[in-house]
Amino acid sequence: MNKRDYYEVLGVSKNATDAEIKSAFRSLAKKYHPDVSKEPDAAEKFKEAQEAYAVLSDAEKRRQYDQYGHAAFDQMGGAGGGFDFSGFDFSDIFGDLFGGSFGFGGGRSSSRPRQGQDSLIRMDLTFEEAVFGCKKEVEINIQENCEECHGKGGFNEKTCPTCHGSGQMTTEQRTLFGTFMTKTTCTACNGKGKTYESKCSHCKGTGKVRTHKVKEVKIPAGVDTGNRLRLAGAGEAGYNGGPNGDVYIEFRVKEHPLYERDGNDIYLKLPLTITEAVLGTKKDIPTLYGTVKLAIPAGSSTNDKHRLKGKGIEDLQTGRKGDMYVVLDVHIPKKLSKDQKTLFEQLSKTDLDDSIEFEKIKKYL
Ligand SMILES: [Zn+2]
Ligand SMILES: [Zn+2]
Repeated sequence: MNKRDYYEVLGVSKNATDAEIKSAFRSLAKKYHPDVSKEPDAAEKFKEAQEAYAVLSDAEKRRQYDQYGHAAFDQMGGAGGGFDFSGFDFSDIFGDLFGGSFGFGGGRSSSRPRQGQDSLIRMDLTFEEAVFGCKKEVEINIQENCEECHGKGGFNEKTCPTCHGSGQMTTEQRTLFGTFMTKTTCTACNGKGKTYESKCSHCKGTGKVRTHKVKEVKIPAGVDTGNRLRLAGAGEAGYNGGPNGDVYIEFRVKEHPLYERDGNDIYLKLPLTITEAVLGTKKDIPTLYGTVKLAIPAGSSTNDKHRLKGKGIEDLQTGRKGDMYVVLDVHIPKKLSKDQKTLFEQLSKTDLDDSIEFEKIKKYL
């Protein structure tokens, strides 16, 4: 049986980094895992990828393989040569690939402490809540360690009678190429090697209970859409004494009817009449911190910007405030009374300084 090159199997180059190898294997495992894949030759492809990964992810084995090829592992058994990977620990790959609950045949070490899963909560905030900060209640639905049995699932620990403490069972697997002995996780103890005299009835032996908690969270001033707040250790319970996962709250801030936000700066469009723009005026401006009087000079135009320093949003990290910009928007009247029309007609007979600008255009007429 001709074995394919391990690098070819994973689809990586000879000088691929460990991260590239891991990532290539992850995608193949996702695609071909026999329990989830619908590909016709998934089992074979999966096994091939597993074997390649077991070798290439191990610096010493990879070095041997680079030097001797498949011959490096020939004496180690297996049909047609090849590396025996049945004792290899794939758990950190499959753990996050299949949500941690995936019972994987082939030496998943269930007794290793692992961090519990993180969870993500999305939260809508009003513009004001985001700008000034607020307190919010969040609902957290997570699995926690059972209090009755302290997450163990039972009482009075003893050596598993099925696997005699090894955590593994040996099963026969018949294939076209012969019969293989494969090691799988002991189903009686889930690979822990230990069981209990009596099962905990509170958690039905799982060691975990689903809880629903309402927690009050302080949202700091200055958050914006896409920002995440981390509640360290508030996530799912860890495995085998590992730390809890975290809860992340991701914000989505609603738009304000008046203000537009750009980072820590805010923009306000201020409508002006044509006479206000020409003659100048004073306007009351609503800011985040109360009303401010703003002098609009004579001869203002649409899109002229006035900066109100420090009237923007407080920076999440530094606490320094951004600025507010008032952007002018001069309205040309659509309807005029008779008197107004007369006044504009009189005005049009005078020399307005705009005519000077028009000279430039005239050259191209
Ligand atoms: Zn067992
Ligand atoms: Zn329990």
